[in-house]
Amino acid sequence: MLMDKYNRVINYIRISVTDKCNLRCKYCVNENFPHIPHPEILRYEEIIRFVKLCAELGVTKVRLTGGEPLIKQDIEFLLKEINQIEGINDMSLTTNGVFLGEKIHRLKEAGLKRVNISLDSLKPERFAYITGVDAYDRVLESISLAKDLGLNPVKINTVMIKGFNDDEILDFARFAKVWDVQVRFIEFMPFGESTLWNSSRIIPSGEVEELIKKAYQIKPSRNSHKGPAKMFEFEGSLGQVGFISPMSTHICSECNRIRLTSTGMIKPCLFSDTEYDVKRLLRENAPDDVLKRFISDCVVAKPERKYEIGLIKKCQKSLISIGG
Ligand code: SAM
Repeated sequence: MLMDKYNRVINYIRISVTDKCNLRCKYCVNENFPHIPHPEILRYEEIIRFVKLCAELGVTKVRLTGGEPLIKQDIEFLLKEINQIEGINDMSLTTNGVFLGEKIHRLKEAGLKRVNISLDSLKPERFAYITGVDAYDRVLESISLAKDLGLNPVKINTVMIKGFNDDEILDFARFAKVWDVQVRFIEFMPFGESTLWNSSRIIPSGEVEELIKKAYQIKPSRNSHKGPAKMFEFEGSLGQVGFISPMSTHICSECNRIRLTSTGMIKPCLFSDTEYDVKRLLRENAPDDVLKRFISDCVVAKPERKYEIGLIKKCQKSLISIGG
């Protein structure tokens, strides 16, 4: 079992399979986004070996992310291989949804059970402005297909940014209710090079929740204890709204995850710039026990909590590099 110094059991890894993305979300990257040469990026066989070792150490849950995971060739192969690893019983994907529709059948065949789709505006022109790409209809089509194919619950990740999309809070709540999906409002976090970041742009989840409660009857969901989101359900709909509040609350005591970046660095805490180079060991073909000890040591080094509320420190890398 992987356990850190604070008795948190780590059973979840989030793996960034690429630093590249087909979108250019203004709050995530700017135009000077660094190019990482292909040989620096972990190969599928290296990721698979890493996951096997983590599974032997007690990891049961894997999420593939990026960058945009669906721009990787043959991502279905990776999914299928990870899905077959003994001990892994929850395999999911975070995507911007643009290529999901065209790949969804193959992904499902490869064993994909659930999907998270990022969507920050329900207005097509604003979507194009935020992301730099006119692909709103494709994303909605993907959401619809994901529901039709039973990749439930379909989760929509929406980053709330003051002056950017906060006039759409009730539209997103209605969307959750009408489409029977889970819309999760995420607080804007201090990552990377985007010039948009400013702490005054954070909208605390509590404000979003209050606004929705004035317009809709929602009650805490039965599954609200699972994961970092505080979930609420609507009367008469399978849809839910949820709040992920890394900036306004301390969710660190429940953290059960570590990250593997696309360049092969283990990142024990999202909010810390400290990373550990596991790619070097994988490429030196280090023995299993050496790698396992390395992974366990990284978990032990996981910080107790992010910075104190009020002392917001900007992390160097954008989420596109870390794996959001
Ligand atoms: N391309 C995939 C996608 O769009 O879902 C996966 C990678 S993306 C970096 C993962 C998530 O991180 C997206 O939901 C994105 O909105 C979110 N994200 C990026 N920068 C963020 C920030 N500064 N604060 C909060 N969320 C952020």
